[in-house]
Amino acid sequence: MRQDTFRHQGLRRQMVAALQKKGITDKTVLEAMNTVPRHLFIGTALESRAYDDVALMIDCEQTISHPSTVAMQTQLLDVHPRMKVLEIGTGSGYQTAVLSTLGATVFTIERQKDLYNKTSQLLRELGYRAQCFYGDGFQGLPGEYHRIIVTCGAPEVPEALMRQLKVGGIMVIPLGDGEQEMLRITKHGEDRSEWQTERFGTYSFVPMLNGKVI
Ligand code: SAH
Repeated sequence: MRQDTFRHQGLRRQMVAALQKKGITDKTVLEAMNTVPRHLFIGTALESRAYDDVALMIDCEQTISHPSTVAMQTQLLDVHPRMKVLEIGTGSGYQTAVLSTLGATVFTIERQKDLYNKTSQLLRELGYRAQCFYGDGFQGLPGEYHRIIVTCGAPEVPEALMRQLKVGGIMVIPLGDGEQEMLRITKHGEDRSEWQTERFGTYSFVPMLNGKVI
């Protein structure tokens, strides 16, 4: 088992200080990111860059998002303990671990079978109690969620996800092809006219794609 050394902890504190400089103010988010050992969600070859503000390659030609992107999405999501949170795009599991650390009950979906297998095992080994699913995030997951976070670039806001979002709930989703605009949608009521959209700048995610990959 790989270790979380004092050196890693020191680098993590520096990462958090850098996030504060970049405008992340939510203390619970900063504390969670100070806790989760990001280097354990990255292959050993790239471990030395784990606490830089960079996106890094993981398996299946996917990426772990920049720490500043994870911080921003998590801050926008406004998570509180015991909320049911649905994440689309498990990837490395780092965002999943941050959400779990905030006390949320996390459900996370990944379309790549290999990533699903590897990451669900890693999260278990590290003691995070998220529920991992192998499936297509466009369909979401049966049930109702207080919060939904999409961590891949979505071509549209999936209908199924808007249905599965509770009234009063928040969805954070990067929308667009190539580059995405970060949207926060608050579902004030069942009717579309009661969905409020706010915009939070441009990001670059791997695409949200249809169907599962074996
Ligand atoms: N939250 C992740 C981000 C990984 S990158 C992390 O912290 O590492 C985005 C992930 O979304 C990739 O693993 C990709 O395979 C996955 N993805 C893309 N389209 C998807 C879909 N329709 N359903 C589920 N996962 C999807």
